[in-house]
Amino acid sequence: MAWEGIEGHDEIVAGMARAASRGRVAGAYLFIGEEGVGKSTFARRLARVLTCESQGDNFTACGRCRSCVQADAESHPDIDVVAKPEERATIPLDAFIGSPEHRMREGLCWRILLRPAIGQRKVAIILDADAISEEGANCLLKTLEEPPDASVLILVGTALERQLPTIRSRCKVIRFGGLPRNVVEQVLTAEGLGDPESRQQAAAASAGSLARARLLVDADVVTFRRTLFGLLAARPFRGVEAGREVMAIMEAAGKEAARRRPRLKLSFELAIEFFRAGLRLAATGIESSDRVLAGAVASWLAAGGTAAQADRHLHHTLEAIEAVDRNANLGMLVDAWTAVIEQPRQGLLSS
Ligand SMILES: [Zn+2]
Repeated sequence: MAWEGIEGHDEIVAGMARAASRGRVAGAYLFIGEEGVGKSTFARRLARVLTCESQGDNFTACGRCRSCVQADAESHPDIDVVAKPEERATIPLDAFIGSPEHRMREGLCWRILLRPAIGQRKVAIILDADAISEEGANCLLKTLEEPPDASVLILVGTALERQLPTIRSRCKVIRFGGLPRNVVEQVLTAEGLGDPESRQQAAAASAGSLARARLLVDADVVTFRRTLFGLLAARPFRGVEAGREVMAIMEAAGKEAARRRPRLKLSFELAIEFFRAGLRLAATGIESSDRVLAGAVASWLAAGGTAAQADRHLHHTLEAIEAVDRNANLGMLVDAWTAVIEQPRQGLLSS
């Protein structure tokens, strides 16, 4: 049985359970892993278990006590969750130390100092740890260095390189790998998304990310993936056409940037998937197991694609993904990316 309904991270659960049974739960954890592999859900379930008033034998929450009920309702006074607001590039300082009028009388760093209202523990979860500013990290420093008794801080980020050294060095790092393919497929089925074939394809191309699989299960996205791979394979690269396709799939998601951004990110991720496969084929002769991708990459190579080219495009597309997260103007970013693939130069956004 999956621990607390979490599939695919058994080793992490076992490690946590062992630590807990020895009374050695760390004061601060840094969860690292790609988007959509279940880190945030894991953090919330862990908080529920850690605050439960009558924990079960296998490091599970009872599901019935006052604490569990409040955790399920997301209204637990001792579980604090901080996230980056959609429209901001970083987590505002106020979230950590309160507004200027209420400095250190509000915010996560203050709340974690209070005694637990229900059980024995307080848990604070910081989602989007990638978006902690240097000032934010400074505010957290004291909390990380001298965590209040029986408090646990959980930071959730995507890559270790994106965390400030001051934070990194003070947390126990837990790495989350991609979810197994069958687990991704199961979840898509449970959520009633797509048909069996599209679910299978989405899971295969998801690289273990549920977030990505949810996007890929959409029939329009499947078509777009094929079209984009075809465009990337063609020499010379038709930038205007590619730009139009990317804009179309992005705009079809809705008017809000919050809905468009994941689609743009997915477009770049697909391009990365293509260039990686191109690099591998050109350098080692190894083909992708995905039919659509393998076919497109083979014609790219036949048209004169080289490993050096693929490597350069890969680099520029990784830059483009970073820019999506920094809240750049999405339309301009598409233009900059297609231009740099069409005519490689130094940096993505430099002229
Ligand atoms: Zn409980």
